[in-house]
Amino acid sequence: MEKLEYNTLINYGFITEQISSVPDPESEYKKKPIKIKTKFVEPPPHKRKLIDDTSDPHNNSLYKNKKQKLNEKSSESTNELCPEPTTLFSSGCRWDSLNWSCAYDSVFMSLYSIFACHTSPFHHNFSISSPIAKKLEVSFMNILNSSSKNCTIFDHHRNNLRDELHTQNPNQFRRFGQHGTSASDILEIIFPTNIRHLITTASCPNQCHQSLPSHNRHTTIIPSQVIDRNSIIPRNLNEYMSNFIDNINQPSNAMDIFCDICQTSTLTYTPLLINAPPILFFELPMESTSSLCTILPSWNIKILLLLEPFQYQLSAIIYLGGFHFTIRLIHKNGSVWKHNGATNNGIPILDFIAQKTDSELEQLLTLEQRKAHIYIYSRVNS
Ligand SMILES: [Zn+2]
Repeated sequence: MEKLEYNTLINYGFITEQISSVPDPESEYKKKPIKIKTKFVEPPPHKRKLIDDTSDPHNNSLYKNKKQKLNEKSSESTNELCPEPTTLFSSGCRWDSLNWSCAYDSVFMSLYSIFACHTSPFHHNFSISSPIAKKLEVSFMNILNSSSKNCTIFDHHRNNLRDELHTQNPNQFRRFGQHGTSASDILEIIFPTNIRHLITTASCPNQCHQSLPSHNRHTTIIPSQVIDRNSIIPRNLNEYMSNFIDNINQPSNAMDIFCDICQTSTLTYTPLLINAPPILFFELPMESTSSLCTILPSWNIKILLLLEPFQYQLSAIIYLGGFHFTIRLIHKNGSVWKHNGATNNGIPILDFIAQKTDSELEQLLTLEQRKAHIYIYSRVNS
């Protein structure tokens, strides 16, 4: 796997070395998408960057662990089916009124709901996102395999997540007391920017060369925040992502770069996602601080890139209002559940059955006076 990863970097011009032989690159690529090593990538400045370099998921030695691979195989058969929502949502995290926990509750429940309805290739991809994602995987498997799913087990694992974040950053993630924290900051730590890198490959329209590695650029990341670009507000998230990809395809600052070979055509750029992250999330600017953004979610997001389209499905929405986070969870069967750790003993409640039509998207903008704050998408077929 490492060889393959290495070869990809050579192919796209990040390193100039001999290509090493790989037993079966095609099948292996499909099974476990190639990852880009962050040491070849210069991370762009990001206001929420909180990770230190030791959390680089791509150095994860568990990747090669034989025992781990065996565990994956044995769990494959048991997790093929998404649990019935009534079983899956028979319990949940309870809000701790002494040590405010709603940011952790909302992230934990959203990711639990997504994790439960995916198979082991997704679980693997999920777990290598960061060291904390690896620990979450253990928590989720624990809950899913336990015979008595009750609030205590959810609270226990939610607290494990909280302890872990507190250890990493005690000031931002206070362990005790009535302190709020940011749900998007938690998500940024679990799924750091280095798993959302896009590299941009250059080619000549005259087909002088398949790709021109010397002009490749690799500094773009899939956004985790919906920001105002050129004052054009997209109707929904799918349009927002299409605009984002189109912008990379036609970078204005690259218009004058001519092909080295024919010297008559300007280069075109194609974004290439080496590793599709298991989760994408989009934080919306809140309306109280900005009047411009009431962007609708889309049921699905398709990211069209060079190799294949990556499809993501809307899986959870985090709402914020009055210093409290609540969520909607969207089950694979279309049932939409709401969760508020402060009510119903932390047990999710069936909200409605979605036909996944456009008209239903409007009602996802608010939940009991709270506004949609983060849309969470999970990768389909992985
Ligand atoms: Zn050319």
